[in-house]
Amino acid sequence: MRKTNSSELLIIHLITFVITVFVISSCTICNFPLYEYPPNWKDISKRDSVINLYSKYLKGKKIFLDPGHGGEDRKNRSKNGEIIEADVNLKVALYLREYLEKAGVTVFMSREEDKTVPLLLRSELANNSNADLFISIHHNAPAKWEDDYTNYTSTYYHAKEDDYEYEPSERDIARYIQRDLSYVMGNPGGLGSFDGTYSDYDIYPGEGFSVLRRTKIPAVLVECAFHTSRLEILRLNDETFNQIQAWGIFCGIAKYYRAGIPVIEIINDSLKYENNYLKICFQLKDSYGINQKAIKVYFDKNEISYSFDKQTNIVSTKIEISDDGEHLIRVICANKNGNHSLPYHKKIVINKNEIKIFDAE
Ligand SMILES: [Zn+2]
Repeated sequence: MRKTNSSELLIIHLITFVITVFVISSCTICNFPLYEYPPNWKDISKRDSVINLYSKYLKGKKIFLDPGHGGEDRKNRSKNGEIIEADVNLKVALYLREYLEKAGVTVFMSREEDKTVPLLLRSELANNSNADLFISIHHNAPAKWEDDYTNYTSTYYHAKEDDYEYEPSERDIARYIQRDLSYVMGNPGGLGSFDGTYSDYDIYPGEGFSVLRRTKIPAVLVECAFHTSRLEILRLNDETFNQIQAWGIFCGIAKYYRAGIPVIEIINDSLKYENNYLKICFQLKDSYGINQKAIKVYFDKNEISYSFDKQTNIVSTKIEISDDGEHLIRVICANKNGNHSLPYHKKIVINKNEIKIFDAE
């Protein structure tokens, strides 16, 4: 029998070493988690105490959840067919409902099961619900079918073309949801915007998303991730991961309300029309204080000057009007946390020194 010489022995040892390293490293890769549990969600008692804490800001609110697609609309799916967008949207929405209800929110839904709900009906249901907030939940897909690597989290708000600051309150909500959702998923925001939030006009120039345009209550649309991504294919059918996604949206909503929303009220006694001048004052209210620099007043679409009393938080305007007729006044302000007031649009009708005020879109 031939004896193994020293160089052959060395090669055998080397091969054994390489195989051992390969086996160990591949096992490590196999066991590597695809996602982390958020620290404030990990154990149930911690989770409940967070929900309890946030209930201070959420209790009594009404939120409308809209899981995208479903029923006859089930065509959006991953390449391998395992992930169906409509189903994942619904799972995330149902878990989100659970967290919100525990925090004292009344939750409405456009669908609670796999059924067809036309786009127009979704907005109609939301508008009739008189909810404080509408959230449409979706998962994204790339422009090219063969692209299985693009993946990010994005949140959309309805702005105006070329005017992203038009009614910025929806953008505030989008920012809070985007930050916490992308954090818990470990996903970046898309690079098309600085923080992962986008105006819906970026996607559909000239009109935005139908569901955001037609919904009259504050509304955002979340694209949690790409259901076509080879990474997300491994995670989106995992119920624990869906709960974590819902947790991210829940925390974003709660933190938005925690930061407060300034309120604008007209001071009826201040309303006067004399010598072709309209005088009108607004009371701004916010427990964190008003950021004076963010106050804007528009009259018939033009930004106008005003005076602001820091002690009383009263905005006063004096506008020259030569004829009777209809006018629009719009006021925006923000609190010291950066949260803006909800849209405040009023129609003012002047008829022979008589003034009437109505809500306007
Ligand atoms: Zn979708």
